[in-house]
Amino acid sequence: MRKQVIAGNWKMNKTHKEAESFINEVKGKVPSKESVESVVCAPFPFLQKLVEETKDSDVEIGAQNMYFEENGAFTGEVSPVMLKELGVTYVVLGHSERRDVFGETDETVNKKVHAAFDHDLTPIVCVGESLEQRESDETMNHIESQITKAVEGLTDDQVKQLIIAYEPIWAIGTGRTASSEQANEVCTHIRKVVGKLSGDEAAEAVRIQYGGSVKPANVDELLSQSDIDGALVGGASLEADSFLKLVEAGK
Ligand code: PGA
Repeated sequence: MRKQVIAGNWKMNKTHKEAESFINEVKGKVPSKESVESVVCAPFPFLQKLVEETKDSDVEIGAQNMYFEENGAFTGEVSPVMLKELGVTYVVLGHSERRDVFGETDETVNKKVHAAFDHDLTPIVCVGESLEQRESDETMNHIESQITKAVEGLTDDQVKQLIIAYEPIWAIGTGRTASSEQANEVCTHIRKVVGKLSGDEAAEAVRIQYGGSVKPANVDELLSQSDIDGALVGGASLEADSFLKLVEAGK
């Protein structure tokens, strides 16, 4: 049985004060980590505080990006060593906003995935098609290509620990969710691709989240699908009440 993982992706939102009051509100209320993984992926400036505040709780803290080098002349970047030192445990990699706005490529995503494993961080690797790709029937090929490149060079054991987030770009922040069948169809395909690349055991173990306008009203149905093992949630993860409902659904 794969454990569900519900991750909030705050993106570039909240003040320090808002981040703190959110975490104080949720940390005693999330279900135990044995039943569901509850992750908050916050902007860099809040990570240290959030890790401190959640030390003895069932909330895990994740970053939303990082660079793949350990240190050096990379102005403005944050390294996996720095995240690990802070006590961060997850890192979102290759989000479509990183790819579209900041020019991340499959190649850099692959390097970052390797760097995450080298530093004992759990990568949440995002893949997803644009509306244009969906309408021209390229979804499955595009996803296969993104996955193949993201996991290149990983051991089968590493792939088992990976979290893949399927996020159709047309469903992100638009209020337009993929239907649960549409979402599951792609997640099933992702599992097949992982099986082809890394074997049946890895395919069975890898966790696949759905992301794109997930909210308390649709989360149960999405999570009930056979190949969906959690959710990566933007907008609906910003309010404590709503985040708590989402993680509760993952139990
Ligand atoms: P959304 O964002 O839930 O606001 O659609 C999801 C994401 O981009 O991870």
